[in-house]
Amino acid sequence: DIELAIKVVIVGNGGVGKSSMIQRYCKGIFTKDYKKTIGVDFLERQIEIDGEDVRIMLWDTAGQEEFDCITKAYYRGAQASVLVFSTTDRASFEAVKDWKRKVENECNEIPTVIVQNKIDLIEQAVVSADEVETLARQLNCRLIRTSVKEDINVASVFRYLATKCQQL
Ligand code: GDP
Ligand code: MG
Repeated sequence: DIELAIKVVIVGNGGVGKSSMIQRYCKGIFTKDYKKTIGVDFLERQIEIDGEDVRIMLWDTAGQEEFDCITKAYYRGAQASVLVFSTTDRASFEAVKDWKRKVENECNEIPTVIVQNKIDLIEQAVVSADEVETLARQLNCRLIRTSVKEDINVASVFRYLATKCQQL
């Protein structure tokens, strides 16, 4: 039986790979245009940490992040958050601070990771490793570099957050 259930919110500009990350983590799939075929806004996955069953509940934003109108309901009760930006999208990197503030306004201080996604496109990077590390230090968040496409480090994001929540 489940001893711990954690609601995780995943925020960041449109196009950084949030929906893809949820699909990848919960269903093990990656498609270029999943939205046209699968219309889901909530998925979950069960994992085991130190012998304890943990349910990770992931909420997706249905594109409304572009209009700056993510509702309070989206954040309500969130115990952890993921701030995602894309390796190939400078504006999404610069927005990470704002996303952190939004989460803090709604949820106070919760375990949070900064995710640099699309690391498979590192050749086309528009942010330097240095800048990213500096931002993570400033915001006092763990930084994890992922490729949802290549399935690199996606599971470690949620394992890290679940471990943090378990320790609280
Ligand atoms: P969202 O708007 O943040 O939910 O982003 P989506 O999940 O809809 O992804 C936007 C686009 O980026 C889609 O075409 C995805 O296939 C693509 N994408 C997502 N993750 C990766 C990744 O790790 N690498 C690459 N190359 N493309 C990705
Ligand atoms: Mg999306």
